Amino acid sequence: MNERFDAIVIGTGQAGPALAVRLAGAGQSVAIVERKRFGGTCVNTGCMPTKTMVASAYAAQLARRAADYGVTIEGSIAVDMKRVKARKDSVADTASGNIAAWLRGTKGVTVIEGHARFESASAVRVGERTLESQQIFINVGGRALVPPMPGVAEVPYFTNSSIMDVDFLPEHLIVIGGSYIGLEFGQMYRRFGSRVTVVEKLPRIIVREDQDVSEGVAGILAAEGIAIETHAECMALSKSGSEISVSLDCEDGKRVVTGSHVLLAVGRRPNTDDLGLDRAGVATDARGFIVVDDMLRTNVSGIHALGEVNARGAFTHTAYNDYEIVADNLLSNAGRSVRDRINAYALFVDPPLGRVGMSDGEIRQSGRRALVGKRPMTRVGRAVEKGETQGFMKIAVDADTQEILGATILGVGGDEAIHCVLDLMYAKAPYTAMQRMVHIHPTVAELLPTLLGELVPLQ
Ligand SMILES: Cc1cc2nc3c(=O)[nH]c(=O)nc-3n(C[C@H](O)[C@H](O)[C@H](O)COP(=O)(O)OP(=O)(O)OC[C@H]3O[C@@H](n4cnc5c(N)ncnc54)[C@H](O)[C@@H]3O)c2cc1C
Repeated sequence: MNERFDAIVIGTGQAGPALAVRLAGAGQSVAIVERKRFGGTCVNTGCMPTKTMVASAYAAQLARRAADYGVTIEGSIAVDMKRVKARKDSVADTASGNIAAWLRGTKGVTVIEGHARFESASAVRVGERTLESQQIFINVGGRALVPPMPGVAEVPYFTNSSIMDVDFLPEHLIVIGGSYIGLEFGQMYRRFGSRVTVVEKLPRIIVREDQDVSEGVAGILAAEGIAIETHAECMALSKSGSEISVSLDCEDGKRVVTGSHVLLAVGRRPNTDDLGLDRAGVATDARGFIVVDDMLRTNVSGIHALGEVNARGAFTHTAYNDYEIVADNLLSNAGRSVRDRINAYALFVDPPLGRVGMSDGEIRQSGRRALVGKRPMTRVGRAVEKGETQGFMKIAVDADTQEILGATILGVGGDEAIHCVLDLMYAKAPYTAMQRMVHIHPTVAELLPTLLGELVPLQ
């Protein structure tokens, strides 16, 4: 017999669990289905494990630089990869276990383990069970994209998931993809002691960023000995003994990188290929992402899509915000829209890159008259005191309306300090408001009001 619920949530990523608990708190009976590990990508193979490993890599780097701070370490600095992995596993396992326990301990929530597939617009099958509801929430996330490049079927490679099992030091890691995920892994493995080459198809890494940001990050990585190969327009993989070669150019025999291991970090694909969406009539785009409106409703009444799968955000904070929008709209008729969200994210290389709002390139395209302020981290007292002066900070404002348009902090503490700007943007405060604020000394954030006093026209 079919089991009836007030709501069905598919996936326990960054939106599903909070939504299930909130709906249950409102008195609804909720089934939540998970086919793998509770917590999804962020907790198990994304943000949490990578940031835990970035912390290990930072410790190694700081130890190597100990003499700069007047600290003497006798002997060489070694990284125990088994212990790095054990630390990472402990953090991720604890978080995943906490989510499972939270869901199982919530009255009104039924946890079902297995792969969910739509039978119709109101029925979902999980193994032998058929669940029915007039409200279904899809939070199935995505996985690493494996591009159809020549040779990919013949060579072993890591993705962000499989590299989580590595407890040894690759001799030479070739990272294919010079974007956010690839760069974090590249820098951490370099700091663990691997040789690292980053291969990027486009003319520069993190091409979505302004040129000065790309060049700033590339310079930081290159200074640590990471090789960066751009313009790799025709990549092909081949294996010879224990070595893997990646040829980069369209003509044979030109640039080739040979290493011991390869990480594919060239993008994500949505987990919609085996979800039975056609049976429910849910529309997807050409890449398989579910099409939603600004309230995250699909084309089928009663079915919402939240998180990475709706292509309206590729981050944990955007997935969680999706939950807030959907829950507030359903339970409080709040009229919230994903359009109210301001673009914000960080790249957790060290020093990190914090970003909010528009890039300079986007501002130019918009045709707005803008003013910018920019300052190298060598002129930020806190960075000098910490001995971490790589990078720069910059902010752009509308010359006519005084609206803050965007900001970048590539530098120590940039992932945190950027929130001063983000919060003002959400408050819709003019940039002049910040000029009258007194920030704490000595911090990176204290230079933001100063920066706003040094604005020049954006060229
Ligand atoms: C290496 C890496 C580092 C990252 N670092 C950051 C970061 O620092 N900050 C940040 O904001 N974002 C980061 N991200 C992105 C972030 O992890 C994702 O944007 C976020 O996890 C998306 O959450 P989600 O809820 O959409 O889906 P997911 O977290 O992917 O969860 C989806 C869940 O659904 C389950 N599922 C899928 N299909 C089915 C099915 N048919 N039946 C049952 N269950 C199913 C999956 O098993 C999974 O548990 C990173 C990603 C990666 C890969």
